[in-house]
Amino acid sequence: MATIFEKIIAGEIPADIVYRDDHIVAFRDVRPAAPVHMLIVPVKPIPTVDDLVDEDLGLLGRMVSVARDLARAESISKGGYRLVMNCRGHAGQEVFHLHLHLMGGRPLGPMVGEG
Ligand code: AMP
Repeated sequence: MATIFEKIIAGEIPADIVYRDDHIVAFRDVRPAAPVHMLIVPVKPIPTVDDLVDEDLGLLGRMVSVARDLARAESISKGGYRLVMNCRGHAGQEVFHLHLHLMGGRPLGPMVGEG
């Protein structure tokens, strides 16, 4: 069954899309955890980081460079930002279509909360 991100990529459900090319789509997170919170998503439906194969490594590089460019466009580069990929249950992954969180716009606090 298609994930919600596949549906966004296909244009079947709306999203605030900030970047699109043949390989990557980026859009604003619907529940932002920071003033800037975007998701950088490959068009290829890879479920988790653990499912990456060597041929996907170029795609990962593209995702990071899109994140870098979006951070510059949002004027959060100088202040700093966080890139996060959650993998499966212990990390709290909710959507099983690989995505890179780009968060910034204020001090983000500790990397991992108590819990
Ligand atoms: P993760 O926990 O790493 O799987 O993150 C999934 C993220 O997707 C969460 O931050 C959600 O707020 C976000 N999200 C879920 N549905 C949508 C949607 N329709 N549009 C934008 N972001 C979404």
